[in-house]
Amino acid sequence: MDATDGDLIPVVDYARASVDKRKDEHSVRNQQTTNTQTAKRLGCRIVARFSDNDKSAAKEDLVRDGFEAMLRVLRTGHLEDGTPVSGCIVVHDDRLIRKAGDYERFVDALTYREGRVYADQRGFMDLYSENVENMGLMGAVASRIEIKKMRRRMRQHHSDNAREGKPLQGPRPFGWQKDGVTLDPAESALLRQAAERFIAGGSINSICRDWLKKGVKTSRGNEWTSRTLTVALKKPRLCGWRILNGEIVRDDDGNPIVGAWDSIITPEQWQAIQAIFAERSGKQIGPDGVLLGNLQRDHREHQYLLTATLRCGVILPDGAMCNHKLRAGFQKKMGRHRYFCQAPSNGGCGKLARRGDLIDEFVSEAVLAKLEQRSTVEIKEVGPWPKKRELAEKVEQFNELRARFAKRKITNSLFFEEIERLEPDIAKLRAEAEKYELESARAKRDLTEIRRRWYSETDDDRLDLSQKRAYIREALHAVIVHPAGKGHGKRFDPDLLEPIWRED
Ligand SMILES: [Zn+2]
Repeated sequence: MDATDGDLIPVVDYARASVDKRKDEHSVRNQQTTNTQTAKRLGCRIVARFSDNDKSAAKEDLVRDGFEAMLRVLRTGHLEDGTPVSGCIVVHDDRLIRKAGDYERFVDALTYREGRVYADQRGFMDLYSENVENMGLMGAVASRIEIKKMRRRMRQHHSDNAREGKPLQGPRPFGWQKDGVTLDPAESALLRQAAERFIAGGSINSICRDWLKKGVKTSRGNEWTSRTLTVALKKPRLCGWRILNGEIVRDDDGNPIVGAWDSIITPEQWQAIQAIFAERSGKQIGPDGVLLGNLQRDHREHQYLLTATLRCGVILPDGAMCNHKLRAGFQKKMGRHRYFCQAPSNGGCGKLARRGDLIDEFVSEAVLAKLEQRSTVEIKEVGPWPKKRELAEKVEQFNELRARFAKRKITNSLFFEEIERLEPDIAKLRAEAEKYELESARAKRDLTEIRRRWYSETDDDRLDLSQKRAYIREALHAVIVHPAGKGHGKRFDPDLLEPIWRED
């Protein structure tokens, strides 16, 4: 035993494989793996393992040798060789209950002495407190537990697979072959392109339309819809990760567990996609990655490049600027579109209208120039996320706190007070990290490529309207269209367009 081992709380763990249709032989082993992780996380050391394999679900008089042996150890407080035992770890307390009265006997044995610890995979539970009776786990409610137990076991089974990096059984995921591990070359390439295009500002609808044109079908042979494509791009499987109960499956150090299947995109790309979805779902993320609330954005697909970007610069009689968002309309006679301020009945002043093609061209050039100018700065500056260390330190503080709590070196109230302080910080930093990945992914795009594709003649190659709009919105808040003074005539005057750039 080395010196650090001595600081850890010596505990036993208990695992029970019950009769179950799937006949999962790994069940005890999987529980033990979970318990090892729980122990490590909580500053404990497992000094002995007890387990039982239930042979039948029906027999009420079943004797569990492992369970009984563990109760004896807990009552005496040491193993046969004298090794002290100060607590017990299980995956969940339903493992302890086989028949009415088991749980009481367990609590009784554990709390036989002072200072014992008890934990399941969620963390420590205080079995000395009076609340044990209120936990709803005492013998009389065992039948209700049976039902909960079944559900939990299903979840745990998935969780075990997730931790071992096994792919889940189910329909073939688009992008992979039947084994769920090997990539399907054509489908995975399509998904990768879609992901890149989406990160570059492409809309789900436009990608979907492309796939329909190309005759791409889902793995079940159906036509793609924007909804199914959205689901496909949200899957962490794309980058080798997995979500369980709404959370990325992580190891004890908080790093996502990478599955055994081939991945299609990088974790950074996947995070960038999720950040975009988060933004588009109406959640506005501030520059520091914090959710700011609902977006006031217009999420419709637009027909014209600058609708909702241009604002009316007409000065109203009261001295204020109209500021109404310009609408676009097609003029059949002229064969082109124009931007105009809506009539007062629709909230505008109705006093401004401009040729669309000229404004589009001018703003496109201005935005491309701005992006190019910025990219030379950005590509140099984008390095690793600067707060990586801060996050690591907070996670470490958090773990240390748990270890001290485990050793009862701090009080309950101080522990929870500190946890409440740390947890939001950690969550906030993780969100910032995601946002940072999004921005650095954007900065890495080749800007000269964007200019070429902006004006490309071929449909497949050219950036679509939603992509161009995304670049424009990324570069500027708005463009104010000032009214032409007398004598301006119909000549286009770029000085009357005033771009409001984002963070210069
Ligand atoms: Zn106006």
